Order: sequence, then structure tokens, then C-alpha cells
Amino acid sequence: MENFRKDNTKYADKASNIIRRPRTPLNGAQGLSKSPDSSFHGNDRQGGIYVLNRFINSATVSPMKKILCLPMVLLLISSCARGNGLYTETRVIMATYITITLDRSGKTEDELARAAGDAFARITKVDDLMSTYKPMSNLSRINANSGIAPVPADPEIIENINDASYISSLSGGAFDITVGPLVNAWEIGSKKAHVPSPETIKKTLPLVGWRDIVVNKKDGTVFLKKRGASIDLGAIAKGYASDRAVAALLEDGIKGGIVACAGDIKVFGRKPDGSPWTVGIQNPRGPEGDVLAKIPLTDMAISTSGDYERFFFKDGKRYCHIIDPHTGYPVNGLMSVTVLAKDSWLADSMGTALFVLGPEKAYALALKHPELEVLMITDSGKELATGRFRGMKVNMAAVKS
Ligand code: AMP
Ligand code: MG
Repeated sequence: MENFRKDNTKYADKASNIIRRPRTPLNGAQGLSKSPDSSFHGNDRQGGIYVLNRFINSATVSPMKKILCLPMVLLLISSCARGNGLYTETRVIMATYITITLDRSGKTEDELARAAGDAFARITKVDDLMSTYKPMSNLSRINANSGIAPVPADPEIIENINDASYISSLSGGAFDITVGPLVNAWEIGSKKAHVPSPETIKKTLPLVGWRDIVVNKKDGTVFLKKRGASIDLGAIAKGYASDRAVAALLEDGIKGGIVACAGDIKVFGRKPDGSPWTVGIQNPRGPEGDVLAKIPLTDMAISTSGDYERFFFKDGKRYCHIIDPHTGYPVNGLMSVTVLAKDSWLADSMGTALFVLGPEKAYALALKHPELEVLMITDSGKELATGRFRGMKVNMAAVKS
């Protein structure tokens, strides 16, 4: 079985219109904005444990309220961070909380602040390039020109498209960044979220198809073949942004730390006392911060996709923000999928891909890829685990379907 590789040259050669650029360290970068409703508590309130809880219930909390929460979050962080050898800074980028935590060892306050600033700058660059909420972003211009003309694309966008196409291929199309028109039709995460008419779904589905993305390697352009098609990098770019931020911190000589781009978390090195970092996995049916399991991590990325992040109920049925590109409807079958991987872009994209595949197919795929470690909670409250999640104490009794 082919393993996940960063250098997907073989794959790229096979795929007719997809190019593959080597993932070289780039200067500067940033993170993707998903919904303005997104928010994250990557703070120390769990006693140094980071909780993988991307979104406060967006149906009940306005973006403004979440932003107003920020000073309190910062206060809690700084009170916890002081004295434990950690530097912590939170900023709102991509309409979400991004928290960077650093081992202070050997660095002055100025050096730590500069390193965190460099990492945040990379995340901001990803957002500026890839946000679909910014009409002038590079990605928005590519989308606006669908069916009309190729658009020059930043190498970081091309890199994400290539990686996403690789995951689409591996997941049989369950993962598909051209879900943009479906995401717009459902408007999940906004006050306008609704079930579209069957006619709308029928009309929208033909616009979705990752093979209709044309990347011209020579010209450095991206073209969407169908007028009205659009790319949404919401399932991969936060992970990518975490990777970019960690790369900046390593370049700045930071020994250890955590970058938490919403629920896409990458840790490197260890805590100042030499112990691993700890990340908590959110109970998909519990209050925010209710942890199902705690996992010690060094040099790993972890990401959770869950049906509790953005959703609405209609006639007693839950509709979440992850959409099956084959049917056009939000996916049921799993409450959450947590993926551990070396790279954050991979953990992020595979979390979404497995979520779409549903329990059986996702579990079968996860078993074939030991480089991924997966914890899935099914709709019926069953646990499916691979790698280190197997035999781990998970408080499943707390999960109510
Ligand atoms: P995540 O929270 O990482 O699972 O990403 C979910 C986001 O990715 C959604 O809010 C959409 O913007 C986008 N998305 C939804 N369904 C898919 C899909 N099947 N493949 C790729 N991206 C998707
Ligand atoms: Mg994802």
C-alpha cells in the first residue's frame, strides 16, 4: 500500500492535470479563514492541556461575542504560562483563535515575541491567499474566474491543490476541495443555514469535481474548467498553516512549542521540563473543554473533524459542515474523527476525508495507513481506533448520541 508522502511526484505524473511542487520551506505565509463563525479555545484552562475543539457552537454564539471573549482567554493563558517556562500568545486570524506556545529556554522575551510574530505572519499569509471570505484573495480570484480564464496562483495555493488532489485520489473523491458551490448552497455555520431544494443540489453537483482543476505548472496558473465552480480549502489550509508556523519557529531556533490553528494543532520538541506536550480530545457531545482522552505528544500534528463544530438541526436531523461531494448532502455516521500524523496538512485533510467516508470505509482505509493514527466516534457512540489510540483510555461513557 502506498504510504502518504510529501513528495507525491509519482502520483503527480499519473494525474493528468495536476502538478506537484516539492514542499520546500518558503518565506512568509499564513492561515485560512473558514467561517466567520469559527472560534477556538487553545488555551491553558485545562491545566496545560490543549483541547481539540475548533468551534464554539456557532448556532448560539455570535462572532462578535467570541472576539469579545479574547481578552479573558489571553488573561487565563498569561496567568497559567508565567512561571512554567512557557511563552504564550493568541491572535485572531482567520476569524479564529490561533495560539502559539513556546518553550522559553535560551531565548529573551524579545526573541520569543519575534519568533511568534514570524509564525503568525506565515498564518496571516495563508489567510490572505486562501480565504474565500476575502474577495481579493488569490483563491477568490481563481474562483471568480472559473470557466473564464486561468489565474496566476501563488506556489502555496498550488501546493495545497496538489496535496488536496492526492487526498481526493486516496479517498475515492470523498475529500474534494471543489465542494465550494455546495458549501455556499448550505451556508452551514451562518445564520442563513438551510436545507437547499433538491433542484438546487441537482444543479450544483455537476460543478463539483476535483479533476476539473487545471494547474499549469509552466505558467503557474490555476483554472477551474466549469463556470460557477469554486475551491474551498477549509479542510486542509489550517493544518497547512500550522505546518508553516512551526517551520518558522524552528528557523528561529525555538526548541519546543505548540501551534494551534483552531483544531489543527502541531507540536514540536518537548515542554521545558522534558515531558511531552498534552492535547485533549473534545467530547463531541459534551460541553466545550469536556475531554474524552488526553494524549501526550512530541513532534506530531493532530486534527479533529467533528459534526459538532458547525451544524444545524432541521426536523430533528443534524446537518453538519462536512459535505459528501457525491450526494451534495452533509455527512452522518460519525460524530468525530481525530487524526495524528507527522504533518498537520495531512492530519487535517485526512480527518475530513475519513469523516466523509463513514465508519466502515474510514476504518478500513485507516488500517492500511499505519503512518496515520485515528480515533473515530460513530453516531451510535462506538469507538474505532488505530495506532496509539488503541488501548487508550477514552471516556466513551461520556458520549451520548
Ligand atoms: P474540517 O473541519 O477540517 O473537517 O473541514 C471542513 C470544511 O471543509 C468545511 O467547512 C468546508 O469548508 C470544507 N469541506 C466540506 N466538505 C468537504 C469535503 N468533502 N472535502 C473537502 N472539504 C470539505
Ligand atoms: Mg480537515
